[in-house]
Amino acid sequence: MSIQTVHGEMSRRSFLASAAAGVALLGAGMAGLGGCSSKTANTATLALPELPYKDNALEPYISRKTIGFHHGKHHRAYVDKTLELIQGESLAGMPLKDIVQKTSGFPDMAAIFNNAAQVWNHDFYWKSLTPGGGGKPAGDLARRLDAGFGSYENFHKELTNAAMSQFGNGWAWLVLEGDRLKVVKTSNADTPFVHGQTPLLTIDVWEHAYYLDYQNRRADYVKSVIDHLLNWKFAESNLPTA
Ligand code: MN
Repeated sequence: MSIQTVHGEMSRRSFLASAAAGVALLGAGMAGLGGCSSKTANTATLALPELPYKDNALEPYISRKTIGFHHGKHHRAYVDKTLELIQGESLAGMPLKDIVQKTSGFPDMAAIFNNAAQVWNHDFYWKSLTPGGGGKPAGDLARRLDAGFGSYENFHKELTNAAMSQFGNGWAWLVLEGDRLKVVKTSNADTPFVHGQTPLLTIDVWEHAYYLDYQNRRADYVKSVIDHLLNWKFAESNLPTA
């Protein structure tokens, strides 16, 4: 075999690889343009969503180990249990948000609500965090925080207080109610959108969210999230467009 043949083979192979990549990109582009990607929040088949970052991306504030258990075990278990409970029911195949809304407030549907709402809350939680996040937002959100709380510092105190005073399992949230920002907390799987509020950000304060990294020091976990991880771009994307 001559050297020329080797080069010929190599370049043909790399050409084929580039061509395949090109087709894949074109496919992805067309799916995007179609605007009917099956991955959008309201039409997705119920499944464990991918994390929006690598499992070690939130270190040193939330460890890879915590993310592994929290996403890979807890979140997955809520997805699996929801699928099991709705199998053969009229809820099967409905968008997740509709399943949560339709089962909210009905004691005989509590098991489905609890699992489905936990799926929704966790998906929202992963998106509420980002490496290099936290701190004071800019622009429209900064103005809204000032209007709602008087200052960013007051907002920080209120969110911390909600996260710390939630007795037992639950969630602390920044929500929009009417045209005003508010901090609220929910117990267990409860979620603000079933109460007419628009969630902007959330902090999971179930012990499984922080115990491996912080043990009983919930305050340190909450401060880490607010100061270093909150995803203000995501919060902004949840504001209704004027
Ligand atoms: Mn959780």
